[in-house]
This record gives sequence, structure tokens and C-alpha cells, in this order.
Amino acid sequence: MKLRELEMLLERVGTFSSPSPFLEQYQTPAPVAARLLYHAYMNRDVSGKTICDLGCGTGILSVGACLLGAASVTGVDLDPAATGEAKRNATLLGVEPVFLSGDVGDPGMADLLGPSDTVVMNPPFGAQRRHADRPFIDLSLRIADSVYAVFNAGSLRFVREYIRGRARVEEVVSGTFPLKRTFCFHRREVSEIRVEIVHLRRS
Ligand code: SAH
Repeated sequence: MKLRELEMLLERVGTFSSPSPFLEQYQTPAPVAARLLYHAYMNRDVSGKTICDLGCGTGILSVGACLLGAASVTGVDLDPAATGEAKRNATLLGVEPVFLSGDVGDPGMADLLGPSDTVVMNPPFGAQRRHADRPFIDLSLRIADSVYAVFNAGSLRFVREYIRGRARVEEVVSGTFPLKRTFCFHRREVSEIRVEIVHLRRS
């Protein structure tokens, strides 16, 4: 499958019906999700691999990983309404990831999920709850060697510092993408977000 084809399929994934600002429920725009997944795919981290999607929301990354031939995909999210929507999206696109509700900060989560080849995630940026992104980074590096994550542009220094001794930043893909209005405090219909897609490899 080509990148553009994946992007077009992911445009069909439905978004949060009532997104929570507290949980930073922003669906990854299809072009960002496709870029992250395609990057992982070209690095041979998707086809035939076991994938975990932390904070899966409505499932765009899980669905995309299935479309690119992952052997199995498990998505986990705190919000059961989101995992319900994720299941509907997977059905719509004819794929079968497993979705669980749970907290990535739960000490039993690593054992519950077990090891994976690859983690994909778009964690909360920590704009609403300070350090909300940290349990995502911690869990991802406990369960997988290879992690692909979306971070707010400018977070790279923090990320490098935070993972020191556990993993290294393998690659960074920076980009500016359109973000549709999600919350009432967003003033514009469409604004631009600058993100960094970061590939971490466990040391
Ligand atoms: N991965 C999705 C959603 C990104 S928004 C996508 O790419 O579109 C971040 C998601 O993390 C939200 O769905 C939110 O409910 C979830 N989340 C926030 N804190 C969490 C936690 N501690 N444990 C599990 N999920 C969490």
C-alpha cells in the first residue's frame, strides 16, 4: 500500500463524538497518522509484528497498523467511550485490532499487555495535566524495543533528557499539519499544528 492510499483510508476514521479536553482527546489528523505508520512500516516495524497503541482514542493508529499488515494490534485507552468508537472504526475499515480500556499509568499494565515489537502512540502533550505524557513513555519503553510517538514540536529536548539511559532518539520527522477545530476554546475552524514524529529505540 502507498502512503497516499493509507492516508485516504484513514480519512474515513470517525473522530471523538464528545472529546474530553482534560484527557486531551485530539484525534491524530490522518496525514500525521499515515506518516507515522508509514515510517514505521518502511523500517520493517509493522508488517507481521505485534503492535501496541497506547492512548488509542478512536483507533486511527491501531486501524492503520492493521491495514499495513501487523500480525496483531492492541489499543488501550482510559476512556471506554473512545474504545467503543475505535471498535466501530475498525469494523468500518474491515480490520480487527483488540481494544482495552485501562490506564497506561497502572502498575499492572505492562504485564497485562505483555511485550510487543512496536509501540505507536500520540500521547497527551501534558497541556492539561502536567506530565501526562510520562507514563506513556515509561510504559512504551517497558514493553517494546521500537516506539513511534507524536510529540508537540519543541518537546525533543525534554524527551531526550527523560529517556536518557533507557533509549535513544533514532529519527525525527518534523511537520506542520492542519488541525480541525475540536474544542470551544479553539478559535479557528482549521489551524496548523507543528509536531515531531519521534522514533525511539530501547538501549
Ligand atoms: N491515539 C489517538 C488519540 C490521541 S489523544 C489518536 O491518535 O487519534 C490521547 C488519548 O490518550 C485520548 O484518547 C485519551 O483518552 C488517552 N489517555 C489520556 N490519558 C490516558 C491514560 N492515563 N491512560 C490511557 N489513555 C489515556
